Amino acid sequence: MAPATPLNCQNCAAPLAIPSDQSFVECAFCNTPHRVERPETGVVQLTMLQAAVDQIATDVKQVATDVQTVDSTTGKLLEIQRLMAQKDNAKRQLDALEDEYGATCDKLAGEFVHTRASLHAEKKILRKNLFQAAKIALMLLVFAVGPFVVTIGIADFVRASEVGTNARHALASVVIVLRLVGIVSGLLFAYQVFAIRSKHVEFRTKEADAEAKMQRQADDAVSSFRRKTAELQRILDTPIPT
Ligand SMILES: [Zn+2]
Repeated sequence: MAPATPLNCQNCAAPLAIPSDQSFVECAFCNTPHRVERPETGVVQLTMLQAAVDQIATDVKQVATDVQTVDSTTGKLLEIQRLMAQKDNAKRQLDALEDEYGATCDKLAGEFVHTRASLHAEKKILRKNLFQAAKIALMLLVFAVGPFVVTIGIADFVRASEVGTNARHALASVVIVLRLVGIVSGLLFAYQVFAIRSKHVEFRTKEADAEAKMQRQADDAVSSFRRKTAELQRILDTPIPT
């Protein structure tokens, strides 16, 4: 066994015998534990263990505080990281949405051009047909009005001249036939005018419906894009805490 180094108790000053191979020694009088320090200089020193324990407790407390600070800093960093990842994701979605919106607009524009072109072609054909129908209507009008004018002429002729009974009857038959032709032509004229008007209204309605549908499709595309981008923009605008 190595020789003991004589030192005094830090508490009661009683002499302590310290064996060279021990790190702790307890005072035989007051039971105060001591830590034995053997620095490079070779001079053996004693520290009251309580002080060392107190120091350790203080150190531990400091470490705990530091760990808490690190924890809260780490938490903050993780939160920032999370927000940034969320923003990145939102940005990507926004880009994709803009591409999709552009494609939708192009597609709709193509469809609209096609719809308007086919409406225009249809309108041209309709105009041609209605022009033909109007010509027929005009002809029917002539056939409706003409016979009545002629029958008035015949009546005047019969009144003004001396014609035989047979001739009178023959002329009366002619008047009846002419009036029948006039009435039928008048009815056909009325029907023709009605048909022209119906076709015209029908096409106008179809045209208006097509325009309304295109407007609705365009509005839907815009509002859907705005709604989706607003949500993503909100994420992008969320401030990152510092
Ligand atoms: Zn002592």
